[in-house]
Amino acid sequence: MRLSLTRREVLCGAVAVGWQTGTTRASGDPAMPSSSPQSIHGMIQTVLGPIPASQFGLALPHEHVMCDFAGAEQTGRHRWNVAEVVRVMKPFLQALRRRGVRGFVDCTPAFIGRDPRVLQQLARETGLHILTSTGYYGGASDRFLPPHAFSETPQQLAARWIREWEQGIEDTGVRPGHIKIGVDEATGDPPSLSAVDAKLVDAAAIVSRRTGLTVTCHTGGAIAGYQAAERFVRAGGSPARFIVAHSDGHGTETNRRVAELGCWVSLDGHGSRALEAHLATLEPLLERHAHRLLLSMDSGWYNVGEPEGGRIRDYTYLTDTFLPALRRRGIAEAVIRRLTVENPARAFALVPAPAITAEGP
Ligand SMILES: [Zn+2]
Repeated sequence: MRLSLTRREVLCGAVAVGWQTGTTRASGDPAMPSSSPQSIHGMIQTVLGPIPASQFGLALPHEHVMCDFAGAEQTGRHRWNVAEVVRVMKPFLQALRRRGVRGFVDCTPAFIGRDPRVLQQLARETGLHILTSTGYYGGASDRFLPPHAFSETPQQLAARWIREWEQGIEDTGVRPGHIKIGVDEATGDPPSLSAVDAKLVDAAAIVSRRTGLTVTCHTGGAIAGYQAAERFVRAGGSPARFIVAHSDGHGTETNRRVAELGCWVSLDGHGSRALEAHLATLEPLLERHAHRLLLSMDSGWYNVGEPEGGRIRDYTYLTDTFLPALRRRGIAEAVIRRLTVENPARAFALVPAPAITAEGP
């Protein structure tokens, strides 16, 4: 399903018919704001087309199916075989389905092995609702950025990403379900984002305002994470459209500030530390900020260039270890549902951004 979502269509509500076709909305879902048929509110863009967010279900907001770390200059479709990646990764995704997981946000960006063809086939064969991304990754000292990321303006970069939203990624027709960017550690005195990282945040704000897509931002540390979130909001992005990834190590104080800004705190390193450490990160935030938290594992992936994809970390820690531990500690089922079902649905549901106005980008 391909829909070109122009500003005019949004303003006229003409796009609503397309979004609603073939779908049914579950009513009364507390995760979902009320929505008229004139609205795109509440739809999530998967690699197989839009679905009502109420159908996203138990969801993992930050995982990876495949990564290619060859660098922006070297990577490309010639480096992997779609059928082989699907064959290797399918059992891992089927294991998720058996555990009741339905939503899966693939956070692999362009130039690190993003391939909608792989994700589409896996979505068809497993029944998972999989999202892919637009945007560029400025982490890892910029080695995954194409040369034009340095020379173009935020507006020019945004135009490229909006084109993927409107026309689909490469030749696949698959539209992104979120914007994935990355920033390195803030450096200098006082510490600040690099020029190119700041530009990526500005471009993401333009695209989010125009499309209603949410940004997942890889962060190099607490200062960079907070600065990226603050910059996004200052650039006119809606705080609820910005996810600070890898917040596990950012400390309670920064996580509270990010949540108070209205952005999402993504605790996506589950399984990488001792259980007690994960609990100690989450629990101080639960009382006041449960509505701004996301839980995932940053697991996977088929590592391009290694035989059979190398050593793949499965996606079971959250369902098999962490959620049972929360239940043992007496965390209410409603809170667990909020963290794992309602929050991902709200975080990735497209909203008709208020900034889609006459003076918008
Ligand atoms: Zn990741």
